Amino acid sequence: MSRFDLVESGEFESRIKALYSLVSPCQLCPRRCGVDRTAGEVGHCGTAGAVVSAATAHFGEEPEITGARGSGTVFFAGCNLGCIYCQNHEISQGADIALAPSWEPEKIAGVMLDLQARRCSNINLVTPSHVVPWVVDALAIATRRGLVLPVVWNSSGYDSVEVLRLLDGIVDVYLPDLRYSDNEAGHECSSVPDYVERSHEAIIEMARQTGTTNVIGPDNVISRGMIIRLLVLPNDMSGVRESLDFIKETLGAGVRVALMSQYFPSHRAESNLLLSRPVRPTEYYRVVEYAEKLGFENALVQEMEASEFYRPDFRASDEPFVDARHFKAPADV
Ligand code: SF4
Repeated sequence: MSRFDLVESGEFESRIKALYSLVSPCQLCPRRCGVDRTAGEVGHCGTAGAVVSAATAHFGEEPEITGARGSGTVFFAGCNLGCIYCQNHEISQGADIALAPSWEPEKIAGVMLDLQARRCSNINLVTPSHVVPWVVDALAIATRRGLVLPVVWNSSGYDSVEVLRLLDGIVDVYLPDLRYSDNEAGHECSSVPDYVERSHEAIIEMARQTGTTNVIGPDNVISRGMIIRLLVLPNDMSGVRESLDFIKETLGAGVRVALMSQYFPSHRAESNLLLSRPVRPTEYYRVVEYAEKLGFENALVQEMEASEFYRPDFRASDEPFVDARHFKAPADV
């Protein structure tokens, strides 16, 4: 069933109701904090309701996400991880997030429709896992008002399978991170106890919904499918090679993966010796070579200079990325 069928049949409303029922006590994500967000209580993610921090046409995503006119990114404040190196820390972990007034779904729907009016390629929901009910509520409103763009779920991968099942037919493209292959690293770098198991379950469910054979439209924009992002951290903290093993074993090597070199020590990264420097070319290209060896012929790679170009400034909320660069196919590097 598509998003449009779900609206017509009334199923969209049932899904929204089911999602709102998960915020009090909050079990929206695998952390299951149990706080009563309807009463204004705040859990690990830092917001009671949903707050949009920025919305813009973004030109630094994967080529089939960006398209010719930019991806319509909607950045939500707060996050259910707690990465000490987060490049978006101003909006994901800022002290004032909890104080920001919650946005009504009507207002969020207006942002989505505005991005469509600007002819963006899609609606790219960035860090949506902790605000799903409000986002889906907004998508229902926007769909009734004529939103036709593909919906991209751009999450950290730390998603609840129960919640993801309620997104079946609503999300067109899954764009999850797969951050760690070792829970100790997840705990040390992102304060998350069980990242490996939860992200693996989530990615399998995402693939079940959209499949892994991506559908690309005549405008070279993806309309259905998934891309898994693998951020290479210094000193092999993310264990990307083991994550590639997992992807190949469970979903096959035909899955589109994006191998990211753009890490730079941001936020509190300097507090951890292992994370206090950018990734070296030898570390990054070892991962690229391993992906090629496993048969990931579709892998997207970044230039080593990418870390210079992905430094958002969310004080400029209408254009936080001033000089982002595209990914490339391995043969172009
Ligand atoms: S969404 Fe936020 S409050 Fe709810 S369980 Fe996850 S981190 Fe906790």
